[in-house]
Amino acid sequence: VAGAGKQESSTLAPIRIEIDRESIRKCLSSECSFCRENCPSYIAFQLDSYSSRGKNRIIKAYLEGEVGTDELREALFTCTICGQCSEVCLTDGAVFNQVREIRSQLVEMGHGLKGHREMVDYIKEKHTPYGVKDRKWMGSEGEEGKDEVKNKEKDIGKDKENDKEKDTGKGTMKDKEKDMGRDIGKGKEKDKKKDRRIMKGKIAYFPGCTIQAEHPEFALKTLKLLDKLGIRIVPLSEPCCGSPVLGAGYREEARAIAGDFLDELKERRINTIITSCTGCTAMLKLEYPELTGKKLKVQHITEVLAKNRKKLKVLLTNGTFKTHNGSGSEIFYHDPCDLARKLHVMKEPREVLETLGFVLREFDHNNTATVCCGGGGGFARDYSDGAESAAEKRVREARELGGRRIVTTCLSCRKMLKRASGGKTEVLDLIELVNL
Ligand code: SF4
Ligand code: SF4
Repeated sequence: VAGAGKQESSTLAPIRIEIDRESIRKCLSSECSFCRENCPSYIAFQLDSYSSRGKNRIIKAYLEGEVGTDELREALFTCTICGQCSEVCLTDGAVFNQVREIRSQLVEMGHGLKGHREMVDYIKEKHTPYGVKDRKWMGSEGEEGKDEVKNKEKDIGKDKENDKEKDTGKGTMKDKEKDMGRDIGKGKEKDKKKDRRIMKGKIAYFPGCTIQAEHPEFALKTLKLLDKLGIRIVPLSEPCCGSPVLGAGYREEARAIAGDFLDELKERRINTIITSCTGCTAMLKLEYPELTGKKLKVQHITEVLAKNRKKLKVLLTNGTFKTHNGSGSEIFYHDPCDLARKLHVMKEPREVLETLGFVLREFDHNNTATVCCGGGGGFARDYSDGAESAAEKRVREARELGGRRIVTTCLSCRKMLKRASGGKTEVLDLIELVNL
């Protein structure tokens, strides 16, 4: 496998795994292998040791001194943390529930992956796992980028007069950014007061670092759509929520990122966050309370759109926006693991698709039984070839059902499935269905 398997430290200390031994016994004494079929890690390597059952086997062998930390690390870090195994498992996914805990222990004892340490240090310094030059939506670089976002924040929801001009949808990305980022600092005193109110607004939009780096236009379109729906929001400049850091096992570093994030929310009196990235949503909603003891009100964009579907329908009917390829066409919805299995957001994206006039088609594996695209838990970054095999299997499932178009609500899923489709199946994010 890829070089990601290199250990972080050569001074190895033994790790103390506290694990549910009864579940391991139950699993290994059964004839069950239900977890194998759709496990992306098993699909990638075609070896039992990469499945959930195989992980149980290796943990048991480690506890009995039959294998070392290298084998344990390999088993635990080749997991997308998709949770598919927990859906079918006799033991309610005992291993899955402890993957992150064991990864954290590995890291604490100096057995983390070298590449992960570098990634975590990079995120701590740059506040994103992506190259700074790629942060188009955030602006140019680092702190300057933050200033540019703050300029954009001042403009959201403002100046309906110019909407007709802006709404042609024919402008370039640059034009759109300009539209949303006009310097209202030059405006009247009344406007300035209004802008200060917006800056201390209570609902923030947080696109997450992947959208900011790879598809800033999706973030801008989302902002615009929210504005059309009459939802007054501010974009949030905090770039990385810490999800990749926690996924790599760096719990304390993730806690520090969460703390900084919460400080910014408090300072700006933000109490609700609208997200686009499913990984960020799970991190903010499920992990932040664990890490910080504080709960956040977090809504994925599909939840917001579903809640406002009557208004969405009106905007569609009155021509404020058109849908991609028009209504009445068939589309397969791929449930992202985080959104479906962890957050139970399943009916909302379907309601939005129907409101937009699409004919919804389902994969055989849908809702909480969805199958991972291979992109989760840092797996695609560390084991890219293997991750592609998982994505190819998912695209094949749609093709076998006659599907030529897939929509999802996670940028990572979109990327994995699009790459795997080889251009033969159209793969879109839900926001791309809105031509605004
Ligand atoms: S969480 Fe996903 S990748 Fe990990 S063992 Fe279970 S099915 Fe496999
Ligand atoms: S589904 Fe659960 S019990 Fe069955 S083999 Fe996999 S890990 Fe073991």
